[in-house]
Amino acid sequence: MMNEQSPAIPSDIATWVERVVRDDVRALSSYHVPPSAGMIKLDAMENPYGLPADVQAEIGAIVAQAAFNRYPDAEAHELKALLRETMAVPAGMDVLLGNGSDEIIQMLCQTCARPGAVMLGVEPSFVMFALVAKVCGLRFVGVPLTVDYQLDVDAVLAAMAEHQPALSFFAYPNNPTGNLFAAADLERILRASTGLVVIDEAYHPFAQASFMPRLPEFPNLLVMRTVSKLGLAGLRLGLIAGRPEWLAEFDKVRLPYNLNVLTQCVAKCMLGHHAVLDAQAARICEERGRLSTRLASIRGVQVHPSDANFILFKAARAADIFEALKRRRVLIKKLTGSHPALQDCLRVTVGTPDENDAFVRALNASMEEIGGRHA
Ligand SMILES: *Cc1c(COP(=O)(O)O)cnc(C)c1O
Repeated sequence: MMNEQSPAIPSDIATWVERVVRDDVRALSSYHVPPSAGMIKLDAMENPYGLPADVQAEIGAIVAQAAFNRYPDAEAHELKALLRETMAVPAGMDVLLGNGSDEIIQMLCQTCARPGAVMLGVEPSFVMFALVAKVCGLRFVGVPLTVDYQLDVDAVLAAMAEHQPALSFFAYPNNPTGNLFAAADLERILRASTGLVVIDEAYHPFAQASFMPRLPEFPNLLVMRTVSKLGLAGLRLGLIAGRPEWLAEFDKVRLPYNLNVLTQCVAKCMLGHHAVLDAQAARICEERGRLSTRLASIRGVQVHPSDANFILFKAARAADIFEALKRRRVLIKKLTGSHPALQDCLRVTVGTPDENDAFVRALNASMEEIGGRHA
């Protein structure tokens, strides 16, 4: 009948949402991406360089001929083989691909989310670890880093003994702090853990350290990589390497066509031009040194050492500086206010030399404005 409504159906949509949607999901906030049109964008660890014209043309031709009418290769065989080679995955280890490493974090969480299961991480670190864990029903235990953002290895081991995490995540180098943790500390953690330990090497292109070659040593080690920070953030492609016994289980929760045709064909082409991306990463590392030195020379700015393509720095009134930079059309990341250990902290991605110069000029002007107005 037309206008008859069951009394079980709420009269207003807010009540309906409340009744249907999980309480813990309603309590979350969505991952916020700020608008950046027309700004110098130094907030998201993107590679600032474009591709040479010949590579662009090659990609154009490949994309034009791609079979969009077909489903993608569900196993991405060719891409996997190329990634294994490019990223030097040790023999005997398997590789699982994701729509960005974010999706891989999700697959691992879904696979390991037994009732009561725990994910362990450190704080501050990559916010997606805790966010995805919670959405998947894992309890997140965050162990504070030391004041200089190093691992408090005894605290991590104590938390592991207490909570027996199914999964532990360590970003190496860490985001948002930029530093590598001591490898010896991670080894102790790997040996003590009764669960899986994921070393997230998203910033590997800018760091001179990796656990990839050490996969055979630790049966519970997984090494995660992504092409995002290397210069292909828009493609959405991440991978995790480890024992086939683990990866076979994660593969069961992977949606069959998680890597689309475009991602697969463009990634394959770009891996053939890996030298282009490596050269860009080398320029970014050079610029990181130059930018760090310039930042450190500004009175009132404290720079944290970085092995990544971004720099964490501290300055009084960081929130005001962030807004003043925005008014000057420079977008960086405001960390202050997001975690007690990040008070007065800002994070800037290393851009091109011109972008970095513009940022330093804008920072000087912003600090002068704030100091002048409020001194
Ligand atoms: C940026 C980043 C990633 C990348 O995620 P994608 O989904 O692959 O783009 C992963 N881990 C850390 C620590 C990061 O900072």
